[in-house]
Amino acid sequence: MEATGKDNEITVLTDIPTGSSCIISKVHGHGGFRHRIMEMGFIKGEKVDVIKNAPLMDPIEYSIMGSHVSLRRSEAEKIEVVALEEGFHPDFDFSGTIEDHVAREVENSARTITVALVGNPNCGKTSFFNFATGLREKVGNYSGVTVSSKVGTFYHKGYTINLVDLPGTYSLTEYSPEELYVRDYLLNHNPDLVLNIVDAGNLERNMYLTTQLIDMNPRLVMALNMYDELERSGDKLDIESLEKMLGFPIVPVVARTGQGVEDVLEEIVHIYCDEEGYTKHIHINYGENVEDCIASVKKIIDEDQSLKDRYHGRYLALELIQGDKVLTKSISKVAGFSEIKAAADAGRARLEKEYRGDIADVISDIRYGFIRGALKETLTPAKEDKRKLAYALDTVLTNRYLGFPILIIFLWIMFQATFTLGAYPQDWLEAGIGALGRWVGSILPEGMLNDLLVDGIISGVGGVLVFLPNILILFVFISFLEDTGYMARAAFIMDKLMHRIGLHGKSFIPYIIGFGCGVPAIMATRTLENPKDRILTILTIPFMSCSARLPVYLLFVAAFFAHHQGLVLLSLYAVGIFFAILTSFILNKTIFKNASDQFVMELPPYRFPTVRNILTHMWDKSVLYLKKMGTVILAASVIIWALGYFPRPKTEMTKAEQNEYSYIGRIGHAIEPVVKPLGFDWRMGVSLFTGLAAKEVVVSSLGVLYESQDIETEEDTAGLEAKLQSLTDENGNTFYTPLRAYTFLLFILLYFPCIAAISAIAKEAGRKWAAFSVVYTTCLAWVVSFLFWHIGSLL
Ligand code: GDP
Ligand code: MG
Repeated sequence: MEATGKDNEITVLTDIPTGSSCIISKVHGHGGFRHRIMEMGFIKGEKVDVIKNAPLMDPIEYSIMGSHVSLRRSEAEKIEVVALEEGFHPDFDFSGTIEDHVAREVENSARTITVALVGNPNCGKTSFFNFATGLREKVGNYSGVTVSSKVGTFYHKGYTINLVDLPGTYSLTEYSPEELYVRDYLLNHNPDLVLNIVDAGNLERNMYLTTQLIDMNPRLVMALNMYDELERSGDKLDIESLEKMLGFPIVPVVARTGQGVEDVLEEIVHIYCDEEGYTKHIHINYGENVEDCIASVKKIIDEDQSLKDRYHGRYLALELIQGDKVLTKSISKVAGFSEIKAAADAGRARLEKEYRGDIADVISDIRYGFIRGALKETLTPAKEDKRKLAYALDTVLTNRYLGFPILIIFLWIMFQATFTLGAYPQDWLEAGIGALGRWVGSILPEGMLNDLLVDGIISGVGGVLVFLPNILILFVFISFLEDTGYMARAAFIMDKLMHRIGLHGKSFIPYIIGFGCGVPAIMATRTLENPKDRILTILTIPFMSCSARLPVYLLFVAAFFAHHQGLVLLSLYAVGIFFAILTSFILNKTIFKNASDQFVMELPPYRFPTVRNILTHMWDKSVLYLKKMGTVILAASVIIWALGYFPRPKTEMTKAEQNEYSYIGRIGHAIEPVVKPLGFDWRMGVSLFTGLAAKEVVVSSLGVLYESQDIETEEDTAGLEAKLQSLTDENGNTFYTPLRAYTFLLFILLYFPCIAAISAIAKEAGRKWAAFSVVYTTCLAWVVSFLFWHIGSLL
């Protein structure tokens, strides 16, 4: 099926034979392609000499700007030119030199904009076409039998505009001849721009097509037609916000009377001229599972330059994953085809197993979620419309008054369950590890190996392993909230509040995950489109008290705040949130001064997740934690043990003297001047130092440093608690006052998160921001603890 139109008549670079020359008038293709070609020097007005071009030759050799370059045929086909030889100009009028004629031609071609009209049936395309071109085509409410398009040409402010009226479609898949025709036209006939006409009275359905256009990534303008009916209905649409979210201009139009048509043409010229900063290309986020598949298929697509030239890689990947037959066939000749197809098929199989259904349906659900989210924020219906039952839930869960309390209740249940349900398996694990330590200790002869295994590895790793049940439970809840679609509602509710501190509602989800572990939280910021929002969120995630800090909190809170345990614990979480807010507020006023962009907050359909889905998502997140245990924490335990064990004393020493004599004691004394102003002794300094590896390690190293007997897990924390309570300073006063303990906890809360979190920051935001985070968090911890300790001591 071929679309008829002007594009048959244009001359492209591959038409020019060896030895001839031409002038470039326009570069076609999708955004990324055009950018690359133009960077190579192929810009309007440049002269190109064809060095070697034969029908079957690929690449073709050219000379441009005095140097030789070769272009693939697929690239050269997208470069529109005007030939410099007479044979190419049948309409040459001899009224000037051939140079004048060519210059005129180049200017004409550069000033010719081909605009494809795309929209649902009956959205008013033909009315728009007629008004713009001044034609009087038959306008009516019927769907045609033949599939074809009309082209109308007219002039607007020095530009020639070819308007192509395409058949109306609801979608751009391959299910009807109309859809195929429109898609083929958009992909293979180089329109300069797409004008998406939507019926303003039926936005949710009409914008489905828009989401597909967004994926395809042409230059886009939207005409919001039937605006008269929208106004009459009393609905209010915040066009400016919607424009900012979608990233292209939206113009209200009444095609029947011609109102707004002129404005649309104005925008078309603007966009065509590539006005800087005028548009942005957004991605619709299809969720972690689908996005991973897109990324893996796109990676292989990107290895084939000719494919990259023809298609926006992300679009092609998305369609192939859905098993589009026509597109699959159209790329079947490229070298990497079998590999691409295999990756797409494997991805589809994985997703269909994951979602237990057709992947195209899942993707269209997500598209509708995107649209609903965009409209919920911008469209205010005049009267409460009769929504479907499925969305009745939304009226409750995102209700202005109810939404927030419901959110708090859900979070409260989540944390409460994490701690109370987690306590049982935690007890069993503690008992098991204690028994294991005793057993290993009894079967091995006294000596270094025994010491290393029991005091180093089993108690070090075991001390952390006991928190695994809490982490798993927390992640089950988080996955459940994410998979049901509630998390998106939570983000929606939080959006207004988050904007006040310069953040976006979507940051809320990573924060919640951050209470479990910072590493998956930092990775979860990938759903934030705006780099500024992302970096700000990443930098503030470490202030969410992760579960690794909990053992330290629990130890000190149990020992020194027996009467207000819950309250003190809550205050630590609150202080963390406070500093996250303060930090993003300050960074917003300084480094990130530019206004925040607006984005669509998707409202995906509610779905009851499968157990399998929740478990796999929980597992994905927990794996990181397990890895940390097998690597960082194991290594840290061995190192701390070795630092405490060596050098071996030559004379008989008590455990305490040996501690001070060992390397760890020496490091502690070296650190002491830095921590002394905070009221910490050298042991606390050492434990903070070991906490760089992971916060849980603070507890195990305090155990090593304060304990006089060997460590045994069950009685261990209780023993350590008692030990801490009974410590005295040189004057015989109690060493650990509540003030000193709380100052220490403040430091634990705020300083350097852990090596794993910092390397995640480096990976997601760059080394520079990782370094910033290290310095900022540690300095902040020091200053806050210093002030708290001294002001507290005065009172
Ligand atoms: P097409 O199928 O997209 O080509 O749509 P048409 O241009 O054939 O229009 C379908 C119907 O909508 C016709 O009855 C038009 O008169 C009507 N229509 C088009 N534009 C507008 C508008 O801006 N406002 C109103 N109220 N009706 C319009
Ligand atoms: Mg029509």
